[in-house]
Amino acid sequence: MKLIDTIRLEFSPLIQDIIYLDSGASALTPNVVLDAMNTYYREYRSNIHRGLYDFSERATTEYENARETIAQFIGANRPEEVIFTRGTTDGINMLAELLQDRFEKGQNIIIPVTEHHSNMLPWREFARRQGLEIRYIGLKGGILDELALLAAIDEKTALVVIGHISNVLGTIHDAKKISDKAHKVGALCIVDGAQAVAHIPISVSDLGIDAYAFSGHKLYGPTGIGVLWVNYTLLQNLKPHRTGGDMVEYVTLDTMEYAPIPQRFEAGTPPIAEVIGLARAIQWTQDIGWEFIQNHEQELIQYMWQQIVSRPWIELLGGEKSIPRIGCFAFTIKGIHTHDISYLLAKQSICVRAGQHCASGITEKLGIAGSIRVTFGIYNTVEEIDILMRELDSIYHKFQ
Ligand code: PMP
Repeated sequence: MKLIDTIRLEFSPLIQDIIYLDSGASALTPNVVLDAMNTYYREYRSNIHRGLYDFSERATTEYENARETIAQFIGANRPEEVIFTRGTTDGINMLAELLQDRFEKGQNIIIPVTEHHSNMLPWREFARRQGLEIRYIGLKGGILDELALLAAIDEKTALVVIGHISNVLGTIHDAKKISDKAHKVGALCIVDGAQAVAHIPISVSDLGIDAYAFSGHKLYGPTGIGVLWVNYTLLQNLKPHRTGGDMVEYVTLDTMEYAPIPQRFEAGTPPIAEVIGLARAIQWTQDIGWEFIQNHEQELIQYMWQQIVSRPWIELLGGEKSIPRIGCFAFTIKGIHTHDISYLLAKQSICVRAGQHCASGITEKLGIAGSIRVTFGIYNTVEEIDILMRELDSIYHKFQ
């Protein structure tokens, strides 16, 4: 059996004869991940960091081992830099709270218009509260104008936020270059890795950034779990944003002392099964290996390009073929509403996303209402692209 067939067998929803082309919204979950979570619930379900009995010790060990797996996966220097969150949105909002009162009125924050709302709205609110000027960076040639971004960073820049990969255009941004420039003026560089972690190997240390947020559910893990990685030096200077159980070393009626990093940033009972599930998802993809994952995705990307180019009525967003990108294709078809397209595709069990994809800065700048977005996961095949294209042909001709 070919590796892709073995992979597909891990994903039960695929048995239902659907064509799932919406992994950018949320990837399917392999059975091994469900099994790992099930084992926790069936065999050692208990809280962590508390009980001295075997179950709780096992749960604590699995939870902390998961932190190490994730730290290694993203190239963190130490596991303590990994903080568990509910997802990217939660992580970025958390960071916006943790960074309060560090900057002065009149400083600025750089936000590309390509950002997902999760990496835009928390910073807009942050800027309003802290009196920072917002500098939006626009598009050039249909993609983020990275040169304009670099040029906008100046002595008054406090923060530069950047999506590692655009969730609409699929384009990969040069987070290292941006971070290097930000650091030259003493600014922080915060990266939204939601669309990157399942597609390209990451090393937060090599990128030299200050913080990186991502969600488990886009990485073949469960929902409700995410990671906020923060550079240890910065982390040491941050005051916990939430208080409660498990984040304190000791408490008297008058005093309290924080637990060590990272526990002080994880108040309350965390999503234990989900943490274990996310680590299992990462191990599973790593067993398959980046070589297969990336080669397979490139094959799909090249095939998709050929199909799109041979249909001039498909208007692709996101610039030229030579621009580094992942398997994420957003497009419009003149004269046909994106919701009509996605509805007709859904009737053929083809799952894609339609609309603004929570990144309305792009649609606003391009002057379009929205787009259809096709995103690939590890389980997709060229045969599925053929079926998608056949249906798009049929929709296009129906509307002529
Ligand atoms: N940023 C990007 C680039 C995304 O694609 C998404 C998910 N669509 C998010 C942030 C938000 O992720 P979550 O909903 O898991 O918090």
